[in-house]
Amino acid sequence: MAGFTVAIVGRPNVGKSTLFNRLLEQRKAIVDDVSGVTRDRQYGVADWNGKSFNVIDTGGFVHGSDDVFEREIRKQVKIAMDEANVLLFMCDAATGITDLDDNMAEILRRSSKPVLLVVNKVDNNNRMLEATEFYSLGFERVFFMSSMSGSGSGELLDAVVELIPEEEESAEDAETKEIPKIAIIGQPNVGKSSLLNALIGEERNIVSDIPGTTRDTIHTHYKMFQKDFILIDTAGLRRKTKVHEDLEFYSVIRAIKAMDEADVCLLLLDAVNGITQQDLNIFSLAARKGKALVILVNKWDLIEEKKTNTARDYEKQLKERLAPFNDVPIIFTSVAEKQRIFKAIEEGLRVYENRKRKVQTSKLNEVMLKAIESFHPPVVRGIPIKIKYVTQLPTYTPAFAFFCNLPDDVKQPYRNYLENQLRTHFDFQGVPIKLFFRKK
Ligand code: GDP
Ligand code: GDP
Repeated sequence: MAGFTVAIVGRPNVGKSTLFNRLLEQRKAIVDDVSGVTRDRQYGVADWNGKSFNVIDTGGFVHGSDDVFEREIRKQVKIAMDEANVLLFMCDAATGITDLDDNMAEILRRSSKPVLLVVNKVDNNNRMLEATEFYSLGFERVFFMSSMSGSGSGELLDAVVELIPEEEESAEDAETKEIPKIAIIGQPNVGKSSLLNALIGEERNIVSDIPGTTRDTIHTHYKMFQKDFILIDTAGLRRKTKVHEDLEFYSVIRAIKAMDEADVCLLLLDAVNGITQQDLNIFSLAARKGKALVILVNKWDLIEEKKTNTARDYEKQLKERLAPFNDVPIIFTSVAEKQRIFKAIEEGLRVYENRKRKVQTSKLNEVMLKAIESFHPPVVRGIPIKIKYVTQLPTYTPAFAFFCNLPDDVKQPYRNYLENQLRTHFDFQGVPIKLFFRKK
């Protein structure tokens, strides 16, 4: 199911981030670095038995008085309960049940979402005996595991995956399947709702300077330039919240869900603030999910004294931050002054077409074998690497298989070269592409 999200909650030090890393295995997690009150919050994608789901490690609080501490934890659990499909409530068998565990358990028992109690640090049989005390917390589904060694993680993952509903296609899905779906994503206050309103030409949502005005996520079927598309707006925030951090947490989870439903993401940035770490996190997650991307640098009207090269310099700096995946359209918009907003949609539809692009095998080989001929892969252990044949795989997002004698020895710099060559000769702008190396 698109957007299926699992949140790991629990007091600090029980092993949440260790489990998170295990679920994601080698994949790099993206880290939401809200300094001060929280420890890093992490978002990522896990796969198990062919099903994938989003995982959020809600982090832990590092300081504050006991009162503050408890209030913050409660809040975190509430947000997770609102936004996730399944909660993993993690406790620590080495320390046993603490007051804070009891406290959280009380909130979680009232959750309408499934809660799996995960008793961690069950590293040996003795611990297993002690760990049985956790049944007293009153959860039906209890899993004993060691995040460190991984024992017990298979059972937990089986249970999580079982909760993911089968993808059933509704009549509506079938109807809209061929229509490009464009998500408008970005941090609070960058202008997502304003953009949607400007496009739709009517005040569907309230737009204001105060982040967190209650708005709901909207899917709008739209027609423009004789083309159909669906706009997915993530601005909606059900709850009013004045706390910036909460708002960001909500909006990141929403953005991740919207991404899953979309083919293309229009990522809005605030021209004045520039690109932030959080923006980069969202960008790289969208890229890893294989979504086509367009970057809108919005509120361009607020950039004073535009010299001839302002946009060009801005774009250059932005691309440096986006590297290595920076073959992405960057549009300078002003929603307030209705500048280039239709261009933004046009680009969205263009990258959608790029994502569907299938290069003919003969053409692909003609171009790529020539590129390989003019710049050979390096020799390993005295043996030259020979790439004989290239083909595009029939995947939803562009992927290419290179057949060669030593597939494991083609290193990153050469992979980058091949990707650049593909991008130079065929238009994959805005589209993440994957390269695979296989033995013939
Ligand atoms: P978080 O604050 O809940 O995210 O906890 P961490 O994942 O940072 O883990 C806290 C500490 O517990 C670290 O020192 C981990 O190495 C340790 N830890 C995590 N899982 C296990 C486990 O299964 N067994 C043992 N013995 N230690 C663990
Ligand atoms: P959202 O939280 O991302 O949906 O952002 P909103 O659409 O609610 O916009 C936040 C604020 O920025 C509102 O006060 C908008 O009027 C303002 N805003 C949006 N786009 C622009 C723009 O292009 N230029 C300027 N100056 N303000 C803008």
